[in-house]
Amino acid sequence: MEVNPLAVAQQQLDMAAEKLQLDPKIHAILREPMRVMEVNVPVKMDDGTVRVFKGYRSQHNDAIGPAKGGIRFHPDVTMDEVKALSMWMTFKCGVLGLPYGGGKGGVVVDPKTLSQAELERLSRAYIAAIAPIVGPEKDIPAPDVNTNSQIMAWMMDEFSKVKGGVTSPGVVTGKPIIVGGSLGRTEATGRGCAIIIREAAKRLGIKLQGATAAVQGFGNVGSATAQFLAQAGVKIIAVTKSDGGIVKHDGIDPDALLEFRKKTGNIKGFPGSSPISNAELLTLDCDILVLAALENQITKENAGQVRARLIAEGANGPTTPEADAILAQRGITLAPDILVNAGGVTVSYFEWVQNLMNYYWTAEEVNSRLERKMVEAFEAVYEMSQKYQVTLRMAAYMVSIARLAEAIKARGWV
Ligand code: GLU
Repeated sequence: MEVNPLAVAQQQLDMAAEKLQLDPKIHAILREPMRVMEVNVPVKMDDGTVRVFKGYRSQHNDAIGPAKGGIRFHPDVTMDEVKALSMWMTFKCGVLGLPYGGGKGGVVVDPKTLSQAELERLSRAYIAAIAPIVGPEKDIPAPDVNTNSQIMAWMMDEFSKVKGGVTSPGVVTGKPIIVGGSLGRTEATGRGCAIIIREAAKRLGIKLQGATAAVQGFGNVGSATAQFLAQAGVKIIAVTKSDGGIVKHDGIDPDALLEFRKKTGNIKGFPGSSPISNAELLTLDCDILVLAALENQITKENAGQVRARLIAEGANGPTTPEADAILAQRGITLAPDILVNAGGVTVSYFEWVQNLMNYYWTAEEVNSRLERKMVEAFEAVYEMSQKYQVTLRMAAYMVSIARLAEAIKARGWV
């Protein structure tokens, strides 16, 4: 059955609100995004035809600061999905203590069907269409599923033109270094995932050296997480993409797999591996399961068969609330998306700060600040989970909502 991500996000909020005995007025504010824009943008195709693409930008809450969050290009994007993703961004920024609210954008498109020139025209048309509601002090987009630094550069350039020739690097993050990007941003989400996995593993008594991991998704987040885990001595035994992947029990070298994909365009057929489906990967016997693909992967249908001891949500919303309950009851620890994958937005925050002051940091400075922020956030969440005897997801929501509630009250909204 199709699960609506907005219903999932609202249910997670409702459960945390109950535990916190949250003021119902604040709860009502947080249940819906404050602003959602739908755009339909015409784009000239290479063959002379025109296609109209549907896109959205949702801004969930700006009590703590401007909206922040990525833009995804995917054929399955819906308004409710984008709303849910913007809610998760608010809570993610809250867990990390970043001075942002949540935003998220999406365009209904399969970018694989576009030429590079069409992709550029679409990226420019979309950011121009949402330009009235974005800006360094309003809402700052970034990469997400199927978008990257080149797309961010086009968007920054187009926004600067729309605004009358001002150079506005702080309007988007995840840009190439030469136009105001931050060192360490590309791999930041994966680096953060690996940090949280390390901290959670410590608490669970799992030694990373020699532990086994399966990774669903081999995009920006999955591939970087696999690399950092492998560097820590974890054996990556399986990797899948949307159309399936590979298993290799004596371990996959993620660098070699990236090289192989560069040459062949696929991960399937990697020397020494056998094919595996996404469904099989999720229930593989391993210590750590990294979910770095899309929403609704672990559901009530397969949660009973998961065999990992620790699940890390590199993607947003990969586990449904019913599945959460089953996993908790089975003693499987789940490190939630709003904590695990927050490394991306954290270094986006560093990028924005560097843009605003026009002074750029070294990679060491970025990475050590990220390390500190992630560990602090993990500790706050872990402490909350111990104090209230709740899951890490519930604890992360509680840490975040407590901060949001304070800001909402301070601003006098309730
Ligand atoms: N799209 C990423 C996320 O879901 C990054 C957002 C950002 O850097 O603003 O967290």
